[in-house]
Amino acid sequence: AGWSLSCRRNVSSSPSRLQSCMPGWVIDQYGTNGVLTYTEDIPVPTVNSPSDVMIKVYAASLNPLDIAMRGGYGATLLKLKRHPMSVLGSDYGSEFPLILGRDVSGVVVDCGSEVTHVAPGDEVWAAVPPWKQGSLAEFVTLTEYEVSHKPKSVSHAEAASIPYVANTALSALVNAGGLCRDSSSNKRVLITGGSGGVGTFSIQLLKAWGAHVTVTCSQNAEGLVRGLGADEVVDYTAGDAPEQLEMMEKFDVVLDNVGGETEQLALGLLKPWSGAKYVTLVTPLLLNTDSMGLLDGMCQAGSSLQSKAIQNIISGGVFYRWGFYAPDGPALDDVSRLVDAGKILPVVEAQFPFTQVPQAFQKLEQGHARGKTVVRVT
Ligand code: NDP
Repeated sequence: AGWSLSCRRNVSSSPSRLQSCMPGWVIDQYGTNGVLTYTEDIPVPTVNSPSDVMIKVYAASLNPLDIAMRGGYGATLLKLKRHPMSVLGSDYGSEFPLILGRDVSGVVVDCGSEVTHVAPGDEVWAAVPPWKQGSLAEFVTLTEYEVSHKPKSVSHAEAASIPYVANTALSALVNAGGLCRDSSSNKRVLITGGSGGVGTFSIQLLKAWGAHVTVTCSQNAEGLVRGLGADEVVDYTAGDAPEQLEMMEKFDVVLDNVGGETEQLALGLLKPWSGAKYVTLVTPLLLNTDSMGLLDGMCQAGSSLQSKAIQNIISGGVFYRWGFYAPDGPALDDVSRLVDAGKILPVVEAQFPFTQVPQAFQKLEQGHARGKTVVRVT
């Protein structure tokens, strides 16, 4: 989306309003919560290409990525994606002022000439790619491929809790984990970190697909994850959690939301020599490019992935993979149908008004998420 200051056309859902600037939360430098600044002077992101869809934001939600990006995480790679010429030097474009917020539920206000799937007035939801300006503002502009019709049965605040974790979980489980709706019924899946945003969504998706789901979480989250359909639950804080997991029948897929020491334990829980896959969402790719620079960082990440993949296939007969968020509006169409069918419930732990975005970040930063933290924008 463009950031034209000269825009003077009617972009609001209220026909009487003419505006070129919008309110939103921006950061002008990386840092702690103090860098979050409210301003009413953000140029409205107008429709600049035939496939653009401009959305009035009704609700957004926060992800751990927002906390990390506020502090500069991923800046090197994301800057290259935003401004490819920046590879030549720092003079080629700045990411600031940067708007965070990866989820949106709202209403379409304008579309490019080639958009056919949605139209002004449609209620939509989307996960905003991290290289684009985010949803903590009055408007966000995306491409048609990233946008989907929001489920009708839930509010904007509830809907905003789903798109980013849904696109992440689907990308990880389908593309990396090899699962799909029609192939999951006999599969045993372990989800570590089942009580957070990705976990609470993944449990419900996999149960809707007929998989057997085991979850690790803290003891006080057991009721939540069982209520969402988890078949077996292991309290990872219990001293004998590794033994409990090792006593269980082995798994076809592990979705690891935790990483660190959990990785080695989880790899040993997979069925050997049967196509079983370990998929972790906790990868060093962006940390490496931040600390070592683009080329060295990518080479380091690539060689670490390759050596783990080779080592695990040779020694354990299991596939080792990284999972990533990927924008996918059509996938959200499927999720929308599951939500309207009552098979996936939004799990909203906390809601904040638009005036309290820093408080919402504080809440997320405390950790121990039980589902999602939502910001009501309109
Ligand atoms: P959340 O913060 O929403 O959830 C994390 C959950 O894990 C919390 O409920 C936490 O609760 C629980 N937890 C913490 N430690 C453990 C442990 N050792 N064992 C089991 N549970 C634990 O994060 P998300 O669900 O949004 O994301 C999960 C991870 O995936 C994050 O690291 C995130 O950065 C990453 N991610 C990566 C993406 C990618 O593209 N690669 C995309 C999206 C997310 P408690 O501490 O109370 O136990």
